Amino acid sequence: MHEYSVASELIHALLPQAESLGGKIVGVFLKKGELRILSNHAMVNAFELLAEGTVLEGAQLEIELIPVTVSCASCGYKGEADHVEDEAFHFSVPILSCPTCGAEVDLITGRELVVDRLSVQTSEDSETS
Ligand SMILES: [Zn+2]
Repeated sequence: MHEYSVASELIHALLPQAESLGGKIVGVFLKKGELRILSNHAMVNAFELLAEGTVLEGAQLEIELIPVTVSCASCGYKGEADHVEDEAFHFSVPILSCPTCGAEVDLITGRELVVDRLSVQTSEDSETS
């Protein structure tokens, strides 16, 4: 399962950082580009499973969707991409050509998968800063 390997990579990348923070990690905020075909539900399940026994155990995985934005070299358009509705799958698919002139576009956002921030709960006696 694709989500499982993505969640596994995510946890391995996060663990050194999470351990050095020294508090309890209560939330992991992820930004997911629209072109990343990953099920949020499967990601959260895989994350919870893989986090067991690590400092990330019990942390809530929050996934924020980043819409596809494009820039067009031909007409200078910058902004969200057009979408086509796929009726069979009830799914909205971004079109990677310019909404105003139809030329090929460069992707600005939509492919990222990044951890935005971690939410840490510090114990009350160490909360002096
Ligand atoms: Zn254009």
